[in-house]
Amino acid sequence: MRAEIIAVGSELLLGQIMNTNAKFISSRLAEIGVDVHYQTVVGDNSNRLEDVIDIAAKRADVLIFTGGLGPTKDDMTKETIAKHVGCALVSDDEALRYIQSYFERVGRTMTDNNKKQALVLEGATVLANRKGMAPGMAVEKEGIHYILLPGPPHEMEPMFADEAIPYLLGLTGKHEVITSRVLKFYGIGEAELEDRIQAILEKQTNPTVAPLASPDAVTLRLTAKAQTADEALAWIEPVEEEIRSIVGDYIYGIDDDTLSSKVAELLGRNGWTLAAAESLTAGLFMAELAGEPGISASLEGGVVVYNNDVKTEQLGIDAALLAEYGVVSAQCAAALAVNVKRKFGADIGVGLTGAAGPDPHDGKPSGTVWIGIASVDAEPETYKLVLSSSRNANRLRAARFALYYLIKHLRKKEGQN
Ligand code: ATP
Ligand code: MG
Repeated sequence: MRAEIIAVGSELLLGQIMNTNAKFISSRLAEIGVDVHYQTVVGDNSNRLEDVIDIAAKRADVLIFTGGLGPTKDDMTKETIAKHVGCALVSDDEALRYIQSYFERVGRTMTDNNKKQALVLEGATVLANRKGMAPGMAVEKEGIHYILLPGPPHEMEPMFADEAIPYLLGLTGKHEVITSRVLKFYGIGEAELEDRIQAILEKQTNPTVAPLASPDAVTLRLTAKAQTADEALAWIEPVEEEIRSIVGDYIYGIDDDTLSSKVAELLGRNGWTLAAAESLTAGLFMAELAGEPGISASLEGGVVVYNNDVKTEQLGIDAALLAEYGVVSAQCAAALAVNVKRKFGADIGVGLTGAAGPDPHDGKPSGTVWIGIASVDAEPETYKLVLSSSRNANRLRAARFALYYLIKHLRKKEGQN
């Protein structure tokens, strides 16, 4: 089976957004052995889209479209494909009900152009959209399959994984299930990770092991094919164990876990509370955590203590300590953590101090960061980072590293209970 991915959207051609949908779809198709020979990008223009469909239908068996399923005038992917394959657009009752209920829920009146989102190609398999309104669809005409997906990645990705992949597997007649597990790493670079698990990467077949690096973190996706999901997991587990035995120290979570969701989970599960004193991050650490639903039971509060006098006045940081060791020091980070914990009556305190850059601060080079973690029943821990990015990238990384070290701390504490 040969597939062609057709991304529709003038903003792609204008360079305003990256075609991450094509990257996502291609990598998922590779996992199930569907070859992608072409990726095409075309603007929101029905004549040019028609040309693209004509060409693609000659060289692929599956045409996968993303974008242009929305309610507005420039969204015309469905209409153009309907014309190409010669079939009508009909309203899908379930999709319409879903759109209506959305508008009722948010208390807004539904405009007529929103009904357009419930139109599907006649005879198509409707692909449910759990994250938005426009449903996707799949239809076959003269041996060619047309799969239509929405543009926004947070809608397209789950729809592709949960609806389109099973549809495609049904076509191949293989009746295989594909199961993935994503291992999430922090505090280790892509190069080092790949180097340390090179032997595993080289012999991988089932599961496949695919590294993916973002500027801030690395993930490994383990994907197995089997007759059942349980069997696929049974293929994944020993390889996961092997990876954990080598670099497990850097794994903070799996699948949809984030650093802050993991912290929230550990605090919540144990009924622990947290407070933070932030100097260089000025609230970034707290802001990351505050995004987690349900965190209010665990967050006591925090303070931004930028100026040295404020550190002393608000948190009672000893001026003599600051004079002796400097503000960018293990001693300062530990004192921030201990004192904020006490001030807010929390179980755990976190302190962040450092030289965000671009200039040195208090005699310490740009990018030097100290993180302190204090717990009721343990000596405060301190961690040093030497970062080399821009000021704001350093601040964000400092906040994330603090979350990462906090996860390690909380796990250890949990193990001792
Ligand atoms: P909507 O209902 O939001 O209008 P749509 O299915 O009509 O969705 P588009 O209008 O084409 O999709 O795109 C909506 C947004 O989705 C874009 O502004 C962009 O942010 C994102 N998007 C679209 N295509 C891609 C792509 N190929 N890669 C990454 N993001 C994309
Ligand atoms: Mg749109």
